[in-house]
Amino acid sequence: MKKIQSINQELSLHGGPILISGPCSAETEEQLITTCQQLADTKKVDVLRAGIWKPRTKPGSFEGVGSEGLKWLAEAKKETGLKTAVEVANVKHVYSALKHNVDVLWLGARTTVNPFAVQEIADALQGVDTIVLLKNPVNPDIALWEGGIERILKAGVTKVGAIHRGFSKYGASTFRNPPQWQIPIELKQRFPELTLICDPSHICGKRDNLYEIAQEAIDLNFDGIMLESHINPDKAWSDASQQITPDELKKLIERIEIREAKIPESKKDVELDILRQKINILDSELIDILSKRMEITDDIGLYKKKNRIKILQSNRWEEIMNKSIQDGTARGLSKEFIVKFLSTIHLESINRQNNIMNSNEWLNKILKKI
Ligand code: PEP
Ligand code: MN
Repeated sequence: MKKIQSINQELSLHGGPILISGPCSAETEEQLITTCQQLADTKKVDVLRAGIWKPRTKPGSFEGVGSEGLKWLAEAKKETGLKTAVEVANVKHVYSALKHNVDVLWLGARTTVNPFAVQEIADALQGVDTIVLLKNPVNPDIALWEGGIERILKAGVTKVGAIHRGFSKYGASTFRNPPQWQIPIELKQRFPELTLICDPSHICGKRDNLYEIAQEAIDLNFDGIMLESHINPDKAWSDASQQITPDELKKLIERIEIREAKIPESKKDVELDILRQKINILDSELIDILSKRMEITDDIGLYKKKNRIKILQSNRWEEIMNKSIQDGTARGLSKEFIVKFLSTIHLESINRQNNIMNSNEWLNKILKKI
């Protein structure tokens, strides 16, 4: 498998974080060219994006203008001098995009999720020296994202990057696709050379919070941002509620603060060291407490086994959760965090009790005690 070659320098015209912007979909020649010209005028954008073939959830929605739009994008590239990026979902898209000199190909979330589709695209890219970005799969499966990157690398493409666009969920939430930041952070640990770009537009699904998500991504060491922009967002043919005008984009980017990646030697002082030592002590205590808690859980498991009582006691669990939410929120913890934290502990307790009740694990436990 080839090694990843960094694409940060090639994509960033301004030396700062990479900015990819353009409409969700190319709609008409005028809409695309005008949007791209206005984006170029902001002097903030490095790469122009446009969806040419659109993966829509339901049939009957606007499914993209098709390869006709690639000619408009090539025209926008000629007029602005900026690089261009297009989503490809099959081999035909790849050949069309390459024929029209698109600089960056990206695989959408609904493509990364499908290993057959990724492999076909990888095969079509054999021997092609182009930049390929993979959005995360719709579901929070890091192995699938990683596997997609490996398929493209195995085809010999070295200029590979990833786009984090959040992960789908069922039911209402603040986000269209909650970010689950731990997943892109883990991906970057697995591929340190990988250029990582955040797509706040598809995470938020609406204009609120775009800035906050972009700032958070930069603070988490992302290399760039992809934001959808349209000359008349409310009238956009797809993703109308999340797009912003080129002017709004400029203002949003100007608000982003670029903080130091590392603490400069000159600023290293004891204050931070002391705070970190305090955290280290508390983390050790937390591990110690968790381990003690699990030992008690195991004893309860033995008791339940002996007395033929079911593992899940819903009333008791509800009681623990309610009391913890009350205590925790009174002490400045969010309800969401307490629920997540305690649910993880509860799941581990259930697994351990299941092992004790339904395998030979209980014997080991008893033998250890005597
Ligand atoms: C898009 O970028 O317009 C798009 C369809 O994104 P995703 O693959 O993240 O849904
Ligand atoms: Mn979109």
